[in-house]
Amino acid sequence: MQIFETARDVALKLRPDQPVYCFRPEVLREDTRGFMQAFPGKTAYAVKTNGEPLVLKALADAGVDAFDVASPAEFAAVRAVAPGAEMLYMHPVKAQSDIRLALEEYGIRVIAVDHEDEVAKLVRVVRALDIDPGTLTVFVRIQTKGHAAYELSKKFGAGPAQAVELLQRLDRHGYRVGLCFHVGSQIQDPDTYERALASADWVRNRAGVALAGLDVGGGFPAEYGHDPNRKKPDMPTLDALMARLRQDIVEWGFDELPLVAEPGRVIVARAFSLIVRVLLRKGRRLYINDGIWASLSDSWTGKITLPARFISDPAIRNRNGDAGAIVPFRVCGATCDSVDILSRPFWLPETVDTGDWIEIGHIGAYSMALRTRFNGFYPDHFVEVTTPFDAGKAPEGFASLETMAD
Ligand SMILES: *Cc1c(COP(=O)(O)O)cnc(C)c1O
Repeated sequence: MQIFETARDVALKLRPDQPVYCFRPEVLREDTRGFMQAFPGKTAYAVKTNGEPLVLKALADAGVDAFDVASPAEFAAVRAVAPGAEMLYMHPVKAQSDIRLALEEYGIRVIAVDHEDEVAKLVRVVRALDIDPGTLTVFVRIQTKGHAAYELSKKFGAGPAQAVELLQRLDRHGYRVGLCFHVGSQIQDPDTYERALASADWVRNRAGVALAGLDVGGGFPAEYGHDPNRKKPDMPTLDALMARLRQDIVEWGFDELPLVAEPGRVIVARAFSLIVRVLLRKGRRLYINDGIWASLSDSWTGKITLPARFISDPAIRNRNGDAGAIVPFRVCGATCDSVDILSRPFWLPETVDTGDWIEIGHIGAYSMALRTRFNGFYPDHFVEVTTPFDAGKAPEGFASLETMAD
């Protein structure tokens, strides 16, 4: 992989017409180590956030030895770069053949369930393979009421009474049991984990079985940009949030248990930026070479504010001094699909034009992981950049804001 000092160097030297992912391994290492130091238990990286082999490899090199996986492709991706790493199969709803593959081929011994029929599938596979149930730890996923930008708590999880029943049933079958939850991604309320811990405590007290662990899931908020036209949301820093979580864990009496976290976004968001090119400016519209079917899947860029830097092309004009006021542009994606228009504008200097580049920062989570081959556009060019996106001059623009009135 080619190495550059800044994304600006990438743009001006390669003059890329295709989107380019700028990987910053040093930032990834720093954010990974920061999280692992702040969390008092095992860190299992959630592979779905960004499962690129170079990311998994860098994480393993940084000391991550556990991965939260959900599918055979994720088992294989982890095994390929980190053969000794532990895998936690935390998807609550699984194909029976995938459970078998996990136990038999990959030696996975940690698994999550949220329904009695999932227990039945597991029991069938464990019996067929003649595995001692006492060598498996089964986490019962409990429902939580989260306040996250991406609510996942509605889709999975057993209600409290049902969770009690599942723990007791698994215990009777001879499994080691634990409790887990996932509060959704990018939490927006600092009380979120405490509420989930309170539910876990309720379930534990009524189940009356010995717990082998507590898994607090993901949801830890990544740092993004901030729209200066809006009131800054009242979220504590990650350090403050982690201090609060450590304290809540002690207060709810879970500190004696082995703990697990499944961070995704908070670890990988800052490790990548994306360089896109303006293929055409038409009034206040910018047609770029990426979009909702590639790295800018609107299901998440529509909800956060990403910082953006303008990289003007010196070959097309000589700019003296000021790039102009920061104004909103409607952004149209690369495909012919008429829904491929970002729901929120990019705010950029008013002089941005055809041929210029835009570097979008903090885009490592749920961006390249969600890209498709739709219409033949599939960004896949990676370079390494040594300077963090946030170093130097503050980015002048930002992507994804309030809907622009047409
Ligand atoms: C997606 C997911 C995660 C990671 O969530 P982040 O908000 O990216 O940290 C963790 N655990 C489970 C079960 C998930 O589905």
